[in-house]
Amino acid sequence: MTRPSQNKGILYIVATPIGNLEDITLRAVRILNEVDIIAAEDTRRTRILLKHYNIKTSLTSYYEHNKYAKGKQILSKLNIGKNIALVSDAGTPGISDPGYYLINLALQSAIEVTPVPGPSAATAALSISGLSTESFLFEGFLPSKTNARRKLIEKIKEEKRTIIFYESPNRIRATLLDLLDICGDRKTVLTRELTKVFEEVIRGKISDIIRKLEGRQIKGEITLLLSGNIDKNKPGDTSIMNLLSEYQKKFDLPMKDLINMVSKDKGISKRDVYQQSLKFKKTLQLEDKNGKD
Ligand code: SAM
Repeated sequence: MTRPSQNKGILYIVATPIGNLEDITLRAVRILNEVDIIAAEDTRRTRILLKHYNIKTSLTSYYEHNKYAKGKQILSKLNIGKNIALVSDAGTPGISDPGYYLINLALQSAIEVTPVPGPSAATAALSISGLSTESFLFEGFLPSKTNARRKLIEKIKEEKRTIIFYESPNRIRATLLDLLDICGDRKTVLTRELTKVFEEVIRGKISDIIRKLEGRQIKGEITLLLSGNIDKNKPGDTSIMNLLSEYQKKFDLPMKDLINMVSKDKGISKRDVYQQSLKFKKTLQLEDKNGKD
């Protein structure tokens, strides 16, 4: 491992507010004043912050779609001794944003990378959630495509720790429906626009939150928290039952074959699917009985 060189600059990873401009540390303001350049994910947003604190340091843009070319330029500046502060559009750089790439590039060149800690949407949301904080899983953004998203949720559905997601307002409904379907009706906290004028926190079961959002046009930035799988009396996995029911309607096959198909599709054991199929059969019997009455 190469050691940081004294002739090289320092890359400061500076956390900035996630909304309220007052949420910045004294040290962050000093570092932003002292560095040679500030590399910002969203220069328009950062300009507002700099103006608020009367910081005159020059800005350069560094974001997802220029990170390779711009990363190299920033690295060459660090290599000749310039100190650079990296800021994301909000919160802590490197947490679910392009900061990760630059940080690694700098580390590979033995540049000193140092944190100037402060806000992050994930910890702000977790801190007020009322869900267990003893240990937690930060999942970041879920995949935007339905299949990939559902697969990922399947993978984490047994997770016991509180799970934190970043989510876009356009997808929040679909995500909540998938979570309900795959994980059952668990405790959830939806936080929106934290520290901003329209800050909103909705607590409840997933189904409560879906109901509360019904008919609303959802805007703004969302961090969603899901309680871990700690409910001992959890209901049957409705996604398995749904798939069994779908395959039963589509294919004229014995239950044994349907179980095989679902087990392969879901990547779970035949035994687990079989257990669910017993519940599924019970539901069918009940429906049958009600139909005949
Ligand atoms: N690095 C940032 C951090 O540490 O907070 C997160 C960057 S990520 C690209 C941006 C996501 O964070 C948003 O899409 C949203 O899910 C979440 N987020 C940002 N600001 C928020 C806020 N004020 N309230 C709730 N969630 C927020």
